[in-house]
Amino acid sequence: MFFDSHCHLQFEAFEQDRDIIIKELAKNGLQAVVVGSCVENSVQAQNLAHLYPHLWAAIGIHPLHSLGFSLIQDALETKNINYPQSINKLAELVDDPRVVAIGECGLDFSYFTAISDLSDIGQSQFIQQQKLIFQQQIRLAQISNKPLILHLRDVYQLALEILQKEDYKTTALFHFFKGSLADTLAILKNPNYFFSFSGVITYNNKLNEVIKIIPLDRILIETDSPYATPKPVVDKRNTPLNVFYVASKIAEIKQLSLEEVQKITFENSCRFFKIKT
Ligand SMILES: [Zn+2]
Repeated sequence: MFFDSHCHLQFEAFEQDRDIIIKELAKNGLQAVVVGSCVENSVQAQNLAHLYPHLWAAIGIHPLHSLGFSLIQDALETKNINYPQSINKLAELVDDPRVVAIGECGLDFSYFTAISDLSDIGQSQFIQQQKLIFQQQIRLAQISNKPLILHLRDVYQLALEILQKEDYKTTALFHFFKGSLADTLAILKNPNYFFSFSGVITYNNKLNEVIKIIPLDRILIETDSPYATPKPVVDKRNTPLNVFYVASKIAEIKQLSLEEVQKITFENSCRFFKIKT
């Protein structure tokens, strides 16, 4: 049994064959967390988690949806996203037992140059707005006692500072982790912090040293599907079934059997998301 800690089965990319794929996952004993990136698709994730016992939901506002206007091509992910996004609406969903995490949320300043055509927002305002929505979700996780799923592009140290300033005591998952060795060591200092690796670890060996120093009981695996298809799969669209390739690469790096990696990452996911099996 595999556990995909991060996928977006609610996205438009799965509109045609969502049910078929989800049933295929069940047949393979795979469980997955369907992760929201805005209020609207968090509700969709929650609905899927109610329909299927092997799916769970995370609810959150992605940093790129936190700015008050559309930045990326929303329609490819979710039609009819309303701006500005409401943290209160998110808070209304949080007590649902099928909702196992808050996120994805965090900081991503990589798109700043792309927004100059869309808005006259300045760089400091762009950063402030992301920080504000991130803080609100940290507080929501704290109050609801549910773990955080963090989307961070490069700015790991800044995120650690914000979490510390908020006196964050619950657990957090550094999703799609691509940090440096220094970032890894800083995150490892807090035993409540976990790492999740995606299909990008199959592209090259850049993260091998990072994976080697992280104890296996702090590692989860994910697809981030429909994105980040692992090698050697040729389909452009990724699906949670491909989480197998992420596990294989970790097994290779850590010189363990695939079964061991499968078993431990499954147990880690259940522990992290407080799922009873
Ligand atoms: Zn994601």
